[in-house]
Amino acid sequence: MSHIDELRAGFLKFRDVSDPQERETFKELVDQGQKPRTLFVACCDSRVDPALITRSQPGELFVVRNIANLVPAYDGSEQLDEMAAALEFSVEHLDVENIVVMGHSRCAGVKALLTAVKNDTWSEGPLHNWLRIAETAAKDTVAQDSHLPEAEQLKACGKRALALSMQRLASYPSVQSKLKAQSLALHAWFFSMGRMQLEAYDPWSKAFQDIT
Ligand SMILES: [Zn+2]
Repeated sequence: MSHIDELRAGFLKFRDVSDPQERETFKELVDQGQKPRTLFVACCDSRVDPALITRSQPGELFVVRNIANLVPAYDGSEQLDEMAAALEFSVEHLDVENIVVMGHSRCAGVKALLTAVKNDTWSEGPLHNWLRIAETAAKDTVAQDSHLPEAEQLKACGKRALALSMQRLASYPSVQSKLKAQSLALHAWFFSMGRMQLEAYDPWSKAFQDIT
């Protein structure tokens, strides 16, 4: 069976779900509209599906996924900016209460970023252009953590990129006003896939702490 056939069969299973409560909940979402309480920014990596790993149901998470779960700095320009559009919609129109940015261990995007910085081998393609927005996180990792094993360097770089994303989120106008009104909270999580551990960033200590 091709993967497309498997995906189609999966949809039919979803459509024909036998649990009447689940079916009713989905129908209500369709009829009444979504009201997700959290904007979740995650990596494109197929292993870190936010709804799956948080056991969230349809309607609960508004999700943005990109390579290495990065948040670009707000520059106030009129250029196409997917993150700015998603923030405006989810924060101003859906009134989400939280934004979670989640990084993860063994992230190929973070590895590509760190490798490019270490070897100064940037390509002109869209992948490296995107990863460059977290270049400072990789430079700090090279400067401070080069003595660590590679897996630990990747974690350190991923966590620095998350801290950077926290700063940048607060620069978006739609986020700023909600933060002032204390109607929005920002969270950075790091998912260690092998250990099945979740850590959260504490902005006061500037460190990640186990929340499992
Ligand atoms: Zn990743």
